[in-house]
Amino acid sequence: MPSEKRDYYEVLGLSKGASDDEIKKAYRTLAKKYHPDLNKAPDAAEKFKEVQEAYEVLSDPQKKATYDQYGFAGMDNQFNDFSGFSSGSFGGFQDIFDQFFGGGGGGYSRQYKQSGPRRGSDRLINVSIEFMEAIKGCTKTINLDVEEQCPDCLGSGARSKDDIHVCRTCNGTGRVVSQQRTVFGMMQSESVCPDCNGTGKSISHKCSKCKGKGYLRKKVEVEINIPAGIQSGQQLRIPGKGEVGSDGGPNGDLYVEVLVKSHQYFVRDGRDILISVPISAVDATIGTKVDVPTVYGDVELTIPAGTQPNQRFRMKGKGVKDLRTGVTGDQYVEVNIVIPTGVSRDEKACYEKLKDLENKQKKSVFERFKNSFK
Ligand SMILES: [Zn+2]
Ligand SMILES: [Zn+2]
Repeated sequence: MPSEKRDYYEVLGLSKGASDDEIKKAYRTLAKKYHPDLNKAPDAAEKFKEVQEAYEVLSDPQKKATYDQYGFAGMDNQFNDFSGFSSGSFGGFQDIFDQFFGGGGGGYSRQYKQSGPRRGSDRLINVSIEFMEAIKGCTKTINLDVEEQCPDCLGSGARSKDDIHVCRTCNGTGRVVSQQRTVFGMMQSESVCPDCNGTGKSISHKCSKCKGKGYLRKKVEVEINIPAGIQSGQQLRIPGKGEVGSDGGPNGDLYVEVLVKSHQYFVRDGRDILISVPISAVDATIGTKVDVPTVYGDVELTIPAGTQPNQRFRMKGKGVKDLRTGVTGDQYVEVNIVIPTGVSRDEKACYEKLKDLENKQKKSVFERFKNSFK
């Protein structure tokens, strides 16, 4: 990120008050201009990021309003943990999943009070899916060992309410203070109460169903709907399927990190797909039409006469739908010109003929190159 942040409107070359359409249009133009695959300038990637960030904010009505009113100062909170991946664009999934970019990690290091109901820890698991499953979306069933609150004692671990007493060791605070004589004098140290494990309670008769644990271990099947367009490393949150809470506290959440396997031919780059296709030197010279595989099936592509090695063609709308913006990316086709390593006698005769023609009409490519040194 540049040390001095530029105004988001300025980044998109717009003035404040630009319409949604203008913002969208400016973003498309600039994203194309600075896309690191298309623009090899050293600062292209940085500019591309800047443009994306500006668009993320200005395309979201809520964030745009905040930014319009408070500028970057209003944005800080929103970019803190989830890279701005919050409300709005998620539509129907929002109830079930909170989506955010990996790395931020929401809520793993939360601190809890030592006594009273405590929320369980969050849990992170990995699910790996095929390349095409990520493109089209899929449902995965996973088996999980979860600890659920005991229905008999509601997590208290006691047979009845009357069996719950204040822990005498810590007087219900859950912590004990011990004094030690050292060379520096008396030192005080505080630690979790060993008798109640910090709950501040002692139980005279334990619940028979859960043996005083307050929870029951259960095997459950959890169905995970993985939305189309998910990228490797993104996480889905499933509320309440994390570790069990203690003393009647709620369970933590389950985070599912989705790992997308690579494909033999398609390479994903955000919402764009890249594919390299082999084309013969003859086809590249005189042009041809080829059926190029896309994630939606074969699509005809015209290879024009005079196509050069590694030349790229864009197949609009044949990429992946972006989870946040709903914009579908493109497929880029890179031409890999294949020079034959062995030719038949007939073919060789044709090449000889071509060479004669070339010599007659003009000097060869190599000779023209050599002449430029004179
Ligand atoms: Zn205690
Ligand atoms: Zn119980």
